[in-house]
Amino acid sequence: MDKIKVRKNDEVLVVQGRDRGARGKVLRVFPRQGTALVERINMIKRHTRPNPSQQIQGGILEREAPIQISNLKVICPECGAPARIGRTRLEDGSVARVCKNCDATFN
Ligand SMILES: [Zn+2]
Repeated sequence: MDKIKVRKNDEVLVVQGRDRGARGKVLRVFPRQGTALVERINMIKRHTRPNPSQQIQGGILEREAPIQISNLKVICPECGAPARIGRTRLEDGSVARVCKNCDATFN
C-alpha cells in the first residue's frame, strides 16, 4: 500500500475537486480507503429525521465527507507552503517527515 503522508491535525490544501484551493485541518485519516476528513472541506448535506429520544433535532445537517488523500497537499508547518513531503531518518533512528521546500523535519 501507498505511504500515507497526511496525518491528523495536519494543515492541508485541496488541489483537486470541488473545494480546490481551500485549506483545512485534517480531522481523521482512513488509511485503508486512502481518504481523510478535512475540516469544512467536501461538505455534504444530510437530511435527518427528528428523534427526540436521542436528542436529534432533525432537518438538514452539514458535515464533512471523506476526500481522497491524493487530492490533498500537506502545508508545511515551518514555511507555510503546500509542500512535497518526504521521509528522513533522524540521528536517533526515528523517521520524520521532511518538507522538500525548506528541509524542515516534523512528524
Ligand atoms: Zn517547509
